[in-house]
Formats: sequence, C-alpha cells, structure tokens
Amino acid sequence: MDLHLFNESVFRRYKSNSQRIRRLSEDWFGEQMYCPVCKSDSLESFRDNKPVIDFYCPRCMEKFQLKSQSRPLGNRILDGAYSTMIESIIKETQPHFFLMHYNKNQWMVKDLEIIPNFFFTESVIEKRKPLASTARRAGWVGCNILLAGIPDDGRIRAISNKSIEDPEDVRSRWRKVSFLKEKKPNQRSWITDVMWCVKDFNKKEFTLDEVYEYEGHLSKLHPKNFNIKPKIRQQLQFLRDKNYLKFLGNGRYRLIKK
Ligand SMILES: [Zn+2]
Repeated sequence: MDLHLFNESVFRRYKSNSQRIRRLSEDWFGEQMYCPVCKSDSLESFRDNKPVIDFYCPRCMEKFQLKSQSRPLGNRILDGAYSTMIESIIKETQPHFFLMHYNKNQWMVKDLEIIPNFFFTESVIEKRKPLASTARRAGWVGCNILLAGIPDDGRIRAISNKSIEDPEDVRSRWRKVSFLKEKKPNQRSWITDVMWCVKDFNKKEFTLDEVYEYEGHLSKLHPKNFNIKPKIRQQLQFLRDKNYLKFLGNGRYRLIKK
C-alpha cells in the first residue's frame, strides 16, 4: 500500500484544496483500499458528485462513506443534518465510515480508521444548535459524531501514524464485533455503551461493581430508563453469549482477546 495521495494532473486541474483532496482521496481509495468486511482487495466509488464520497464493495456490496480531514481525528467529527442521521440509524441505511487524516504538506495518508455502521447509535450523535435566524439555512440542525463515545472495538485502525495494519487483522477485528448486527438499532446502543464502559477500565479483568460505577454516565445517555443496573447485567450476559467476555464468578469478568 502506497500512502501518497499526490497526483500532479489533479493538482493542475483543481484549484481549491478541498476539491483536490476530494479527488485525490477518491482515486487513492479506488486504487489502494481493500474491503474490511470480505476478502475483496478493492472498493468501487459511486462517483455521483454528491458532497460526500461513497464507496461499495463489488463482492459483498457493503457501503462505505469517506470523510477526510487535515486535522488529527479528535473527539468528534462534523456530520450532516441531525434528523437525517437519526433516521438512517433507525432504518439501518447508514453506510460504514472511513475516517482519514492526511498530511496536507506531504499529501500523504497519516491515519485511517473504519467505524462499522452498527456502532452508530443515538448515544454518539450530538445534536448541534440550530443555525441562527440570519443564516441562509436558518433553523437547520446539524450533528456531530462523538468519536470519543464509540468503544475502542468500534474504531478499527487500518493505518496508524503511517503504519499500515495487516488487512487480515483489520478483517478479524471487524468479525469480532459483527455480532452487533443481530440486534435492532434501539437495542444496540445499550450494548455499545456498556462495551464503552468496560473498555474504559483499560484492563483485562474487571468486576460488576466497577461497571455499576458508570450508572450515572449511562443514565445520562438513557434518561428514560430507571433500571440501569439490570440493563448493565443484561448487556454483560449478551456479551458473554457472544464470546466477547467471560464470567469468572463472584461478579468478576474477563475480556476475551481475539
Ligand atoms: Zn466486501
């Protein structure tokens, strides 16, 4: 895999850097990127001139959307209309995301991570303030995606600081969490939120009491639910059934590394 995005003819043809990066990243993906879901070693672009860049895998037909930025990937990224995002989560039409951070002096890919669409839940979609009455689209409400609220397993790194991960490792990380697809979108947020908590310990073994300490955090994400502790236990059972963690007895758990 070559991380250089630069292409002289694209530079001559387009004057603005936003048009350049759009075209360069579209070309780069078409030439270099593989499918993280199946064994296909290429992705195809829809090339439909929409503001976003969409790709699909010609083999498994999964859909992806690319977002690229010259800033490092921080805690949140800007997305489109809030209502459209929520609707696409509920209807399960949201594509998976590729997030690219590029160096705009060298025109090179620096970081690339993949977020499977089953990690997009209402818990990680932040509603922005409506645009002011003086704005052209007054009252329009956009959203941010809170990357920091997505559990580590839902942020699959394909390139980290110019270091390229083995595609087979990337696909195996995808398979490890694909059990989430079985759940309906409204049930999924509970599971991913509890996954976020157990990952937040940053250790292999933890106790139920430690997870209970996140009761306040979880009740903020699910303000209509007053039975947080039973909900936590329910998610831990599901995660055990899916071989994501192991019950050790006496309220102790261990994450299973795959
Ligand atoms: Zn595929």
